[in-house]
Amino acid sequence: VRTYGHWVDELGHAEADRVSARPGYSEHQTGLAWDVGDAATPACDLEACFGDTAAGRWVAAHAAEYGFVIRYPAGAEDVTGFAHEPWHLRYVGSAEAARVEAAGGVLETARGLPPAPDYAD
Ligand SMILES: [Zn+2]
Repeated sequence: VRTYGHWVDELGHAEADRVSARPGYSEHQTGLAWDVGDAATPACDLEACFGDTAAGRWVAAHAAEYGFVIRYPAGAEDVTGFAHEPWHLRYVGSAEAARVEAAGGVLETARGLPPAPDYAD
């Protein structure tokens, strides 16, 4: 509630929905999602520039080996419903992560799911 409310205050509802899940809809609430950062580049924590850091590049190259996918990859906002978040990892298991990666890196596409729907108000 606090995180989403912060973004609504900063950006308004429409933009907040691009960068933050509404309360009750966040993958973080499943226990399967993590936001990662790097103490060497704190200015890029939770920012798109994390993907350009050494840590971000390592995550992109190796997440699947450990069973994770970058849940909101670049260029997939129309499918995932969220802007690119190179720091947001979702655990799906090693076999599934490899399958998602081989299918282009978008979980919905790999699973044959439709694009993320708008929230029902
Ligand atoms: Zn996250």
